[in-house]
Amino acid sequence: MENIVALAKRRGFIFQSSEIYGGLNGFFDYGPLGSELKKNIRDCWWKDMVHRRDDIVGLESSIIMHPKVWEASGHVAGFTDPLIDCKVSKQRYRADQLFFSPVVVDGKTAGYVSALESENTVGALQAAAEAFKRKKALQGTLAPVVAKDMTEAKPEEIELIPSPATGEAGSLTPPRSFNMMFQTNVGAMTDASSVAYLRPETAQGMFVDFKNVVDTGRVKLPFGIAQIGKSFRNEITPRNFIFRSREFEQMEMEYFIHEDADWSKAHQEWIEWCRQWLLSIGLPASHLSLYAHPKEKLAFYSKGTVDIMFAYPFGVQELWGIAARGNYDLNQHANASGKPQELFDEATKKKFVPHVIEPAVGVDRILLAVLCAGYAEEDVKDEKGNVEKRTVLRLSPRIAPVKVAVLPLLKNKEALVGRARALYQKLQRRYAVFYDDGGNIGKRYRRQDEIGTPWCVTIDFDTIEKPGDTFTLRERDSMAQKRITEAELFALLEEQVY
Ligand code: ATP
Repeated sequence: MENIVALAKRRGFIFQSSEIYGGLNGFFDYGPLGSELKKNIRDCWWKDMVHRRDDIVGLESSIIMHPKVWEASGHVAGFTDPLIDCKVSKQRYRADQLFFSPVVVDGKTAGYVSALESENTVGALQAAAEAFKRKKALQGTLAPVVAKDMTEAKPEEIELIPSPATGEAGSLTPPRSFNMMFQTNVGAMTDASSVAYLRPETAQGMFVDFKNVVDTGRVKLPFGIAQIGKSFRNEITPRNFIFRSREFEQMEMEYFIHEDADWSKAHQEWIEWCRQWLLSIGLPASHLSLYAHPKEKLAFYSKGTVDIMFAYPFGVQELWGIAARGNYDLNQHANASGKPQELFDEATKKKFVPHVIEPAVGVDRILLAVLCAGYAEEDVKDEKGNVEKRTVLRLSPRIAPVKVAVLPLLKNKEALVGRARALYQKLQRRYAVFYDDGGNIGKRYRRQDEIGTPWCVTIDFDTIEKPGDTFTLRERDSMAQKRITEAELFALLEEQVY
């Protein structure tokens, strides 16, 4: 993870927000290459989700909506995380990410240990329990720890559990609900009547505009409304780089189906569509898994939620949630606004409220996944046969920030430079390309490997002296080289960059 964060900074993918002022926790900036990569992810999703399907239309709703939207959706009352304060250190923790265990020696509880959730929470608790036993010079057999999170702690246990900040018990508060929506005020007055929220998800835009789209969009069930846009959550513990941040971007789609339709089939189809889409942008199947939320943890209206999980370096985590939400949201807005959100069924001559399947994913989480899956360090041989390290980002050509680097073999040979410039300008009309004439050719290849450029073309003496006007095409992953014509290069790009 450290290497990936370092590369992201060094090569201009991702910077800390407001870095010169010390940064702002949970906020990030995407640099020249990062913004390209992010845009490519968004564009691929939009093309596949909206342009290439006949049953889905797009939407761009406002970030600040009427506050009643968030009352009806349940966010004002229920979009909360359990928060714990350490009264001594003033640190705050999410109760479900802070784990504890009793230290049991010869069957008796001698005290408690705590650890923040990590790849090896149980191991950390066990080590803490052993250290506790040694420090207190306890004799006897230590039982294996039993990890529970702080939402499961009994009131009498809370005061005995040490704060991770101080190592001492007695300073942690019981968990309380913390609403994650960012508040602001609309207009000149700053009072209760002007309170509004930055949206914590894009989905409500699709529900609130449902009737507008139906009345204007010539859509027929089943159909979907898709949106890409920023969402904001005042996360208690933003962490793992861009995985959990406070300002992030979502790509969400609400797929409306008839109330009598087979929701389970539609749900399965969307899970598979999302999985295939992740493969299409280059995520390896080996890193993906599915997690079905247990029935007892679902919201009362939810029929089922399956998350596509990704094996990040810091653990297997949610990447994409696919939820079958019934018709809860449309009903809530119908009740709160007094405006029915129904469709008319020509067959039964009855009105009904459609149900919905919601695939919701974060662009930043996808971007982090492609960086993690694509990053590799390898030993390779240079031209002289010496072994050297190369860092390579194996990004799919679909999303790579630069598709082709055009490299004249020498920068002081007019004929080479002229041909290279001409090719570069022609490619530039359709693709993001890069022109590099600095340094030896091996170094130039390495620079492109590191930013994930799938191909380099070198304009060399054979290009200008031999018939056929061919270039050397060098492939990033295999490092194989072959000669290729301009027409063949464009055909390759046409096939791979879609
Ligand atoms: P988590 O349990 O990780 O907080 P969630 O279940 O609350 O996520 P959803 O409300 O289902 O997430 O949001 C849909 C998607 O938006 C998530 O699958 C994730 O990809 C993305 N997302 C949610 N919260 C964040 C965040 N704080 N930073 C970056 N991406 C996020």
